[in-house]
Amino acid sequence: MTLTPKQIEALLQMLSHTQAEELSCDEYLDRLAEYVETYLSGSSLPEGLRAIEGHLDLCNHCQEEFQALLKALED
Ligand SMILES: [Zn+2]
Repeated sequence: MTLTPKQIEALLQMLSHTQAEELSCDEYLDRLAEYVETYLSGSSLPEGLRAIEGHLDLCNHCQEEFQALLKALED
């Protein structure tokens, strides 16, 4: 079968979505403290923490946890 450009685009979107959701939120939350510490220290993010940054862009739930943690640390 031949894929139309539209179908290919849909497939690619599906793939990138799958990659972004590779880890569960629990796994991100496990590393969130580490991420926040690095974030606040102003140093560049190691490879392992970039995935967390990407997930925060996509996931409101983890974004909220991130903001809450930031707030807690600022107080
Ligand atoms: Zn999440």
